[in-house]
Amino acid sequence: MIYLDNAATTQPHPDVLETFQQVYSQFWANPHSLHRPGERAEQLLEQARKQLCSLLGATQHNAIFTSGATEAINLAIKSTRELYQARGNHIITTNTEHPATQASLAWLAKQGAAITELPVGADGTVAPQQVEAALTSRTILVTLIHVNNESGAINPIADIARAIHPHQALLHVDAVQTIGKIPFSLADCPVDMLSLSAHKFGGLKGSGALLLRSSLPLPPQLHGGGQEHGMRSGTADVPRAAALAKALRLAIEAQEASALRIASLTQTIQSTLAAIPGVQINSPAAGSPYITNASVEGIRPETLLHGLSEKGIYISTVSACSSKQAEPSHVILAMTGDATRARQAIRVSLAQNTTSADVETFLSTFTQLVDQLR
Ligand code: PLP
Repeated sequence: MIYLDNAATTQPHPDVLETFQQVYSQFWANPHSLHRPGERAEQLLEQARKQLCSLLGATQHNAIFTSGATEAINLAIKSTRELYQARGNHIITTNTEHPATQASLAWLAKQGAAITELPVGADGTVAPQQVEAALTSRTILVTLIHVNNESGAINPIADIARAIHPHQALLHVDAVQTIGKIPFSLADCPVDMLSLSAHKFGGLKGSGALLLRSSLPLPPQLHGGGQEHGMRSGTADVPRAAALAKALRLAIEAQEASALRIASLTQTIQSTLAAIPGVQINSPAAGSPYITNASVEGIRPETLLHGLSEKGIYISTVSACSSKQAEPSHVILAMTGDATRARQAIRVSLAQNTTSADVETFLSTFTQLVDQLR
């Protein structure tokens, strides 16, 4: 099989599965129990937390383990609103966010929050000046996607963070498509909260984290025994935490070595697709080397997907959670203003284990398929 849908999920790294299994069989005690096996499990949990922070250059942040990025994003957004409700009710975001952010904000809007959705430019990004101009004395939060999961557009997050810094608003970054793929360090980028998801970098599903400034006492969304510094109750999943730290270490270790190769594969994909009549590349030139989004005129994306699928090649239409709906991609619509183009969008997304043979087979099969369908 040729799997080119890595923005939806990645294959778990075999070493990560091994770590998970080993930790589960040896450290299954409740890490919150006071006995010896509980203490050993707790030590491992804290070791995973420390490793996660250190791999992301986080010296001022703590990590809260969650069930994935959706939970981390919900926690960051809803709890900031709760924490600062006396200070203001204004939140700034963009019109190309992942549904986890969009739906959390829609929920808060129903409770009276005022949301400003900044429009992205044709390159899929917002400028620091746009964010700065939208800030008011009532702004409590700016929540932005870093690398867009559909287009691959990269918001200039470090510049945005610096623009927000003098103001009281917090900055939350959805870094799900960044971490383990593109070099990123919290040491160089003053963000207050960052969400990530393990299954996007060779880790396990149901596993993510929110990194947040240590001084931020976010009120919990899950109430219970007060685990995870009181911010996320429930018995901690030590094997998943250990697997997350392992997956991140492996991904970051391999990141630099694979960067040029992946960028060159994506360049080949984009130039070959662009040469097919009626194909438009939607991803910006300066986007993520892992993601190509393109629209194919006159052919339904589902038809292309199925044609490729029959040959064992797997790509996607819009984001995985909404790919069963025949709706235009809100991201491509925001970038192009063209609903037809947004309805025809397909996404090809790579991982560190994608080979040039995978890409060659995909490109020749795709080119033939488009020919046949026309
Ligand atoms: N944010 C982005 C940019 C994503 O790509 C995803 C996953 O598709 C999420 C958030 C949600 O992550 P999870 O599936 O781990 O909840």
